[in-house]
Amino acid sequence: MVEPSPILVFNAGSSTLKYRLIMGDHDLRTGIVEHIGERGGPEDHGDAVTSALADLRSGTPGPADEPGTVGEPWAVGHRVVHGGAELRSPTVIDDDVLAAIDRWTPLAPAHNPAALAVIRAARAVFADVPHVAVFDTAFHATLPEAAFTYAIDRAVAAARGIRRYGFHGISVRYVRDRAAELLGRPADGLNMVVLHLGNGASATALADGVSVDTSMGMTPLAGLVMGSRSGDLDPAITFHLVRAGWATDEIEALYEKRSGLAGLSGNNDVRTVQQRAADGDACAELALDVYCRRIRHYIGAYHAVLGRLDAIVFTAGVGEHSAVVRGRALDGLAPLGIQVDDAANAGARAPCVISAGSSRVAVCVVATDEEQAIAEEIVTLFRPAG
Ligand code: ADP
Repeated sequence: MVEPSPILVFNAGSSTLKYRLIMGDHDLRTGIVEHIGERGGPEDHGDAVTSALADLRSGTPGPADEPGTVGEPWAVGHRVVHGGAELRSPTVIDDDVLAAIDRWTPLAPAHNPAALAVIRAARAVFADVPHVAVFDTAFHATLPEAAFTYAIDRAVAAARGIRRYGFHGISVRYVRDRAAELLGRPADGLNMVVLHLGNGASATALADGVSVDTSMGMTPLAGLVMGSRSGDLDPAITFHLVRAGWATDEIEALYEKRSGLAGLSGNNDVRTVQQRAADGDACAELALDVYCRRIRHYIGAYHAVLGRLDAIVFTAGVGEHSAVVRGRALDGLAPLGIQVDDAANAGARAPCVISAGSSRVAVCVVATDEEQAIAEEIVTLFRPAG
């Protein structure tokens, strides 16, 4: 569908703001504001919007160059991490929606306030076009009750909103569709495991294209080993630390910032960890082992949940670029019908298939693109029915 004017997309991270001006599937302008709230960076996400707009207004070609128009987007899209139980599809933002997003701030304290600040600043500038919130949690609204229920007292869970929500949904939906195109099959006929391996990392099981299980939980801390986050832990570790005198904030910082690859090896970047492991560093080798073993664990679990598995899809920084992680995560899974072509894996450039011809399960490497995904969701939202 060709739109008469572009969509502007904002993707707020805890200390970054990515922005993109998109016309159809064509990027007119893309940028990132970094170090928000740090020394030398913008003070907050509202200031970051000002910087982004200054960049967008400098030198956008043609009539879009009018100050105050930024090519007059017909809609502004916003990535919002936590939409909780209420916000389960792309939603045009009004004051009630802002209040609802804020209600979920306790479960995404680093992310939802950043998105809210961006939305408020952007609405002040673009007051006459729809602003649409697209939620990382929404794609997982299809999780069956048995998959989203934690086995604790049901009344406590209900009173506190304690359940699995799942994240990375914007990316997973996009990657599902690109993998289906690559395989030449409709997405709604495919059972997949999507491995989104970036700084944050998650595994999602898709039955006929729909999310039926996912490794992140009530918050994005659960599941796979990440750059600096622990992923799954025994909850009793927390009591153990509390009894030893640790404060809540200290434990949170331990699990969020001093865990994962960073906690195990001192480094959160897979490239560096791989290099150190290759050079014989035992800490780095163990970190990589723990990281890949957890991925295998989820592939096995989700294979069992799905029964039939058609495809495994790797995406995001590590998934797209690390042949080592892909190879180690899938090594020895031939009895499950998963066989990697080592040469295809080593030379992979997304989008591509890296499984051997004899593999029952296709293994794909696909690039994710959250900003493009958000623009697609908005076009779908406003497409006339029928
Ligand atoms: P984010 O989750 O912040 O969006 P990305 O999806 O861009 O992050 O993933 C970032 C991570 O990808 C980096 O921390 C790094 O570990 C990993 N990465 C990027 N390029 C490579 C590469 N060539 N080999 C291995 N890992 C890579």
